[in-house]
Amino acid sequence: MFRANYKYKRTFIGNIPKGSDLYEAISTIALHEDIRIGKLTAIGAVTEAVIGFYDQNKNEYLKIHLSSEHEILQCSGNISLKDGKPFVHAHIILSNKDGSVFGGHLMNGTKVFACELVIDEYGGEDLKREKDNSTNLFLWKDKNLI
Ligand code: ZN
Repeated sequence: MFRANYKYKRTFIGNIPKGSDLYEAISTIALHEDIRIGKLTAIGAVTEAVIGFYDQNKNEYLKIHLSSEHEILQCSGNISLKDGKPFVHAHIILSNKDGSVFGGHLMNGTKVFACELVIDEYGGEDLKREKDNSTNLFLWKDKNLI
Protein backbone atom coordinates (compact mmCIF):
# COMPACT_ATOMS: atom_id res chain seq x y z
CA MET A 1 0.00 0.00 0.00
CA PHE A 2 1.26 3.45 -0.87
CA ARG A 3 -0.20 6.87 -0.26
CA ALA A 4 1.53 9.93 -1.66
CA ASN A 5 1.38 13.47 -0.40
CA TYR A 6 1.54 16.32 -2.84
CA LYS A 7 1.42 20.02 -2.02
CA TYR A 8 -0.16 22.78 -4.07
CA LYS A 9 2.40 25.00 -5.85
CA ARG A 10 0.97 27.29 -8.56
CA THR A 11 -2.06 27.88 -10.77
CA PHE A 12 -1.87 28.82 -14.45
CA ILE A 13 -4.98 30.43 -15.98
CA GLY A 14 -5.38 31.61 -19.56
CA ASN A 15 -6.80 31.31 -23.04
CA ILE A 16 -5.57 28.90 -25.66
CA PRO A 17 -5.52 30.77 -29.00
CA LYS A 18 -7.99 30.00 -31.79
CA GLY A 19 -6.61 27.47 -34.26
CA SER A 20 -4.33 25.75 -31.72
CA ASP A 21 -4.23 22.01 -31.33
CA LEU A 22 -5.69 21.60 -27.83
CA TYR A 23 -3.57 18.63 -26.73
CA GLU A 24 -0.37 20.14 -28.13
CA ALA A 25 -1.10 23.51 -26.49
CA ILE A 26 -1.59 21.97 -23.04
CA SER A 27 1.51 19.81 -23.51
CA THR A 28 3.59 22.83 -24.56
CA ILE A 29 2.59 24.73 -21.40
CA ALA A 30 3.43 21.70 -19.23
CA LEU A 31 6.84 21.28 -20.90
CA HIS A 32 7.67 25.00 -20.99
CA GLU A 33 6.71 25.56 -17.35
CA ASP A 34 8.14 22.17 -16.28
CA ILE A 35 4.87 21.16 -14.60
CA ARG A 36 5.76 17.67 -13.39
CA ILE A 37 2.63 17.01 -11.31
CA GLY A 38 -0.68 18.73 -11.94
CA LYS A 39 -4.34 18.66 -12.79
CA LEU A 40 -6.15 20.59 -15.47
CA THR A 41 -9.61 21.69 -16.41
CA ALA A 42 -10.83 23.55 -19.49
CA ILE A 43 -14.02 24.76 -21.14
CA GLY A 44 -14.63 26.43 -24.50
CA ALA A 45 -15.32 25.29 -28.05
CA VAL A 46 -13.58 23.44 -30.86
CA THR A 47 -13.92 23.53 -34.64
CA GLU A 48 -13.19 19.79 -34.88
CA ALA A 49 -12.03 17.08 -32.53
CA VAL A 50 -10.25 13.75 -32.39
CA ILE A 51 -11.06 11.64 -29.35
CA GLY A 52 -10.02 8.14 -28.45
CA PHE A 53 -11.77 5.09 -27.08
CA TYR A 54 -9.49 2.44 -25.61
CA ASP A 55 -10.48 -0.99 -26.91
CA GLN A 56 -9.76 -3.27 -23.95
CA ASN A 57 -9.60 -6.39 -26.12
CA LYS A 58 -7.33 -5.03 -28.82
CA ASN A 59 -5.40 -2.90 -26.27
CA GLU A 60 -5.34 0.08 -28.57
CA TYR A 61 -7.07 3.44 -29.02
CA LEU A 62 -9.81 3.68 -31.60
CA LYS A 63 -9.99 7.23 -32.99
CA ILE A 64 -13.27 9.10 -33.34
CA HIS A 65 -13.13 12.18 -35.60
CA LEU A 66 -15.77 14.86 -35.06
CA SER A 67 -15.43 17.11 -38.10
CA SER A 68 -17.74 19.93 -36.98
CA GLU A 69 -17.90 22.55 -34.24
CA HIS A 70 -18.60 21.48 -30.67
CA GLU A 71 -18.71 23.03 -27.22
CA ILE A 72 -16.14 21.81 -24.72
CA LEU A 73 -18.43 21.04 -21.80
CA GLN A 74 -15.51 19.72 -19.80
CA CYS A 75 -11.92 18.76 -20.41
CA SER A 76 -10.08 17.42 -17.41
CA GLY A 77 -6.86 15.59 -16.87
CA ASN A 78 -3.55 15.32 -15.15
CA ILE A 79 0.13 15.89 -15.72
CA SER A 80 2.84 13.48 -14.64
CA LEU A 81 6.15 12.23 -16.01
CA LYS A 82 6.59 9.88 -18.94
CA ASP A 83 10.13 9.17 -20.14
CA GLY A 84 11.30 11.88 -17.73
CA LYS A 85 9.22 14.66 -19.29
CA PRO A 86 5.88 16.26 -18.35
CA PHE A 87 3.09 14.28 -20.00
CA VAL A 88 -0.57 15.33 -20.27
CA HIS A 89 -3.41 12.81 -19.98
CA ALA A 90 -6.80 14.41 -20.58
CA HIS A 91 -10.38 13.45 -21.39
CA ILE A 92 -12.97 15.69 -23.00
CA ILE A 93 -16.77 15.93 -23.16
CA LEU A 94 -18.13 17.75 -26.23
CA SER A 95 -21.64 18.76 -27.32
CA ASN A 96 -23.04 19.61 -30.75
CA LYS A 97 -25.79 22.04 -31.76
CA ASP A 98 -28.47 19.53 -30.85
CA GLY A 99 -27.01 19.10 -27.39
CA SER A 100 -25.81 15.60 -28.15
CA VAL A 101 -22.72 14.70 -26.17
CA PHE A 102 -19.58 12.86 -27.21
CA GLY A 103 -16.51 12.17 -25.20
CA GLY A 104 -13.24 10.38 -24.98
CA HIS A 105 -9.50 10.51 -24.54
CA LEU A 106 -8.18 13.84 -25.87
CA MET A 107 -5.96 13.29 -28.90
CA ASN A 108 -3.98 15.39 -31.35
CA GLY A 109 -6.22 16.94 -34.00
CA THR A 110 -8.65 18.75 -31.69
CA LYS A 111 -8.66 22.36 -32.93
CA VAL A 112 -9.51 25.23 -30.58
CA PHE A 113 -12.15 27.84 -31.39
CA ALA A 114 -11.90 29.31 -27.89
CA CYS A 115 -10.64 27.71 -24.71
CA GLU A 116 -10.16 28.75 -21.09
CA LEU A 117 -7.64 26.56 -19.31
CA VAL A 118 -6.74 26.25 -15.63
CA ILE A 119 -3.79 24.12 -14.49
CA ASP A 120 -2.95 23.51 -10.84
CA GLU A 121 0.63 22.44 -10.23
CA TYR A 122 1.70 20.31 -7.28
CA GLY A 123 5.07 19.62 -5.76
CA GLY A 124 6.25 16.34 -4.35
CA GLU A 125 7.71 13.01 -5.25
CA ASP A 126 7.90 12.36 -8.99
CA LEU A 127 4.83 10.68 -10.43
CA LYS A 128 6.10 8.46 -13.26
CA ARG A 129 4.22 6.58 -15.96
CA GLU A 130 5.48 3.17 -17.01
CA LYS A 131 4.13 0.48 -19.27
CA ASP A 132 1.60 -1.71 -17.49
CA ASN A 133 1.57 -5.14 -19.10
CA SER A 134 -1.94 -6.06 -17.95
CA THR A 135 -3.53 -3.11 -19.79
CA ASN A 136 -0.80 -2.13 -22.29
CA LEU A 137 -1.21 1.44 -20.97
CA PHE A 138 1.37 3.74 -19.42
CA LEU A 139 0.10 3.97 -15.84
CA TRP A 140 1.50 5.45 -12.64
CA LYS A 141 4.13 3.05 -11.35
CA ASP A 142 3.63 1.67 -7.83
CA LYS A 143 1.03 4.29 -6.89
CA ASN A 144 -1.88 2.08 -5.89
CA LEU A 145 -4.07 3.75 -3.28
CA ILE A 146 -5.35 0.47 -1.83
ZN1 ZN B 1 -7.29 8.46 -21.39
